[in-house]
Amino acid sequence: MPNIIENLRIVLARIAQAERSAGRTPGAVQLLAVSKGHQAADIRAAFAAGQRRFGESYLQEAMDKMAALTDLALEWHFIGPVQSNKTKNIAEHFDWIHSIDRDKVALRLNQHRPAHLPPLAACIQVNISGEASKSGVEPGHLHDLAKLVNAQPRLQLRGLMAIPAAGDGLDGRQRAFRHLRQLAERLGRQGVALDTLSMGMSDDLEAAVAEGATLVRVGTAIFGARDRKG
Ligand SMILES: *Cc1c(COP(=O)(O)O)cnc(C)c1O
Repeated sequence: MPNIIENLRIVLARIAQAERSAGRTPGAVQLLAVSKGHQAADIRAAFAAGQRRFGESYLQEAMDKMAALTDLALEWHFIGPVQSNKTKNIAEHFDWIHSIDRDKVALRLNQHRPAHLPPLAACIQVNISGEASKSGVEPGHLHDLAKLVNAQPRLQLRGLMAIPAAGDGLDGRQRAFRHLRQLAERLGRQGVALDTLSMGMSDDLEAAVAEGATLVRVGTAIFGARDRKG
């Protein structure tokens, strides 16, 4: 079993070093620990080491872990592809969603967000790798989708998320991260204020921090290899 506490320390040190190298403000980049494919006990170990934000990609798996961890004050982020029949449970159980990619999902999340909870913090996932990726809204449709999300009272549009294609290589991924930042800056000039760039994973978080990431999503480098899916 990997040493989660030691791994967390190493990842936080990588983030701090990347912030320094890029001239970013210390603490500007938050760590989302991606716990998909790992056990509730692993989340408990990371919590004991101070980690509070956790990301999950599969609804049922996430809800099973939530049920086992109700005694901990955790912040849950949904980062996987969204099927529209899952929007009710996502709206009821998560604090954040990173993967809004179409109108229908945004409208249904807004409709299902319970009144007793704060608005669901939301990022729009953008396809910055063209043909190589099927996930995320096309950059040409981003402005319209951002306007729509921004207009939903039960959603709080926070930013953009992207997953560069694995085959892109480190330089290609860094260009993709830069592209995502430029898209966010353009939205800002168009009056849609954003404060979050969700980009960078275990292998490329330094490149993402250099291009302005405010939140990196790290799984393997904290919890070790996953046995199955994604
Ligand atoms: C699994 C996953 C991650 C974490 O990837 P690692 O390479 O294990 O760090 C980050 N973001 C998303 C959307 C994921 O699905």
